[in-house]
Order: sequence, then structure tokens, then C-alpha cells
Amino acid sequence: MHHVACPYCHRKAELVKGVAIYGHHRPDLMYHNFWRCEPCGAHVGCHKNSFRPLGRLANAALRKAKMAAHAAFDPLWKSGEMTRSEAYAWLASTLGIFQANCHIGMFDVDGCNAVIAAVAERQYVANMERAYPHIKGEEA
Ligand SMILES: [Zn+2]
Repeated sequence: MHHVACPYCHRKAELVKGVAIYGHHRPDLMYHNFWRCEPCGAHVGCHKNSFRPLGRLANAALRKAKMAAHAAFDPLWKSGEMTRSEAYAWLASTLGIFQANCHIGMFDVDGCNAVIAAVAERQYVANMERAYPHIKGEEA
């Protein structure tokens, strides 16, 4: 059995069905398993047909940060510019972490903000190289 702790209050999270979190608004998630800490308003879903959490429990602020991080990062591979694993390899090396630990679902708010900053930096460099192709690769 999994023992999942809330990262905010460090109490033991409770295992609930999606209906306890979303009511009847998400019929697709009604019978999915979730770990929840009600006092913190934090929860995380489980891998399909298991009690294994997809990441750490997230409160409203972290859920928002993760959505923003995915919105910045996912176009890198959804656009076909690179594969999904190439994109994560780039992200891991840019953030200076091991690729095995490089999952947005595992990040805290600072980690999510670092993803957004890394993608913005990458786009800035790409735009500069497009605007000034003649200085590409030369010493400043
Ligand atoms: Zn908690």
C-alpha cells in the first residue's frame, strides 16, 4: 500500500475517488483514484488502475503553475520541432537536473517557473539568431 504525504502540511493524504474532488463535473474522472489533503486543498491523480500517484500533491497555486509550465513547454515537442524525449532531455540539461527527475508533475512552483523561464530564454536566443544570422557562431 502506498503512503502518500501532503508536501504542504506533511500529514498523510487520503485516497479518494474523483467524484469527491470534482463532484459530477468530470464524469470521466468520477471513478479515478486520487490522493487528497482536504485542509490544504491539494490533490494528485493516480496512474491508471493503480494507487500510484502521478506526482506530488498540488494545491491550487501549484496546479496553476504546472498548467503554465506545460503551456510553455509542450509546444516544443507538439510542434514537431523535436521529439518529446528530446524536449525533456533539453529541459533537464538546461535546468541542470537528471532526466529521470525531469517531470513537470514533480516540480514545485519554483521548478515550474524555471521551465517557463528556460523556454522564454530559448525563444529569445532563437529570435536573435533569426534577426542577426550573420553573427551566429562568431565571438562577440
Ligand atoms: Zn496538507
